[in-house]
Amino acid sequence: MRTRQREYYIGGRPRRRAGRRTLLVVSLIAIAVAVVGGAAATGRLPAIGLLAGIGLPGQSTPPVALATPQASAVGSSPATSAASPLMSPLASPNGSTSPSSPAPSVPPLPETPLPCRPPANIQTARVISHGDFKQKVVALTFDDGTNPENTKQILRILQKEKVNATFFPTGVAMERFPDVWKAVARAKFPIANHTYAHGALAGKCFEPQRHELARAAAVFASLGIAESPYMRPPYELWDETTEAATSAVGLEAVILWNVDTGDWQGASAATIKRIALTGGKGSIILMHTFPEATAAALPGIIKGFKARGFRFVTIGQVLGIDGPVPYPTRP
Ligand SMILES: [Zn+2]
Repeated sequence: MRTRQREYYIGGRPRRRAGRRTLLVVSLIAIAVAVVGGAAATGRLPAIGLLAGIGLPGQSTPPVALATPQASAVGSSPATSAASPLMSPLASPNGSTSPSSPAPSVPPLPETPLPCRPPANIQTARVISHGDFKQKVVALTFDDGTNPENTKQILRILQKEKVNATFFPTGVAMERFPDVWKAVARAKFPIANHTYAHGALAGKCFEPQRHELARAAAVFASLGIAESPYMRPPYELWDETTEAATSAVGLEAVILWNVDTGDWQGASAATIKRIALTGGKGSIILMHTFPEATAAALPGIIKGFKARGFRFVTIGQVLGIDGPVPYPTRP
């Protein structure tokens, strides 16, 4: 039973949302350029994802909002007054709400599956960035799945310390290192969808987003690894279409975080530990499997939280759903 539930949702992410809007505009322009330039035959989705990702960090909201995704894709004049409310800073990220927009005049890319909009009446997945602020629990999460030796080291530390955590490998990483991921699954750690190829989802049509999640799900199935029923969007770039696509592949929640250790950008072990330990009740802590500094920081992170009397929970426990828990404890 899924309910639309956003009480855990942290709304104060205007910069990120601005980034997502920028991404939408940039990616649609990229699509238009790719089509006009005849690059469609070779570019396809990964190339567009790459183009869309260029220049994202640090970009600010464009001063003038484009009227609709379709209008920007065909190069119409930006900014109609009618569209402004939709694109106001407080508006939810859209991509599915453009009531009066014309159909795009550019043909679809050969490998861009339709449709663009989610099916009507689809129930969207909830978005979670932390757990219960009243409980002395934290959820450690590890993304991406590359660097098998480091992943195994993280697993060894978690097992030695009897600490729960949740993993979000990409489908590509699971295909490349199946034995590592089978070992993580055997150790009863929950493993969830982080897309197949780690492209940014936000701004893409419904079907490409759904496909990216379904393709990762197929890898879980092919390896005989149970997929936990939630997902994490690469780069924290998601939109309402992502929430619909998540639901469409049978997953219940989009999982964000409220503590980013910065390990993905080369932080030292000391920095990773310091930032992780800024977490408090209900925190979801973002880490990755590839930085060796993360494995080096992990024992200190665990020690620090244990000293404060915290328990370590899985994302499934944060959500209050059934699923594997390597080290069950009573609340
Ligand atoms: Zn990632």
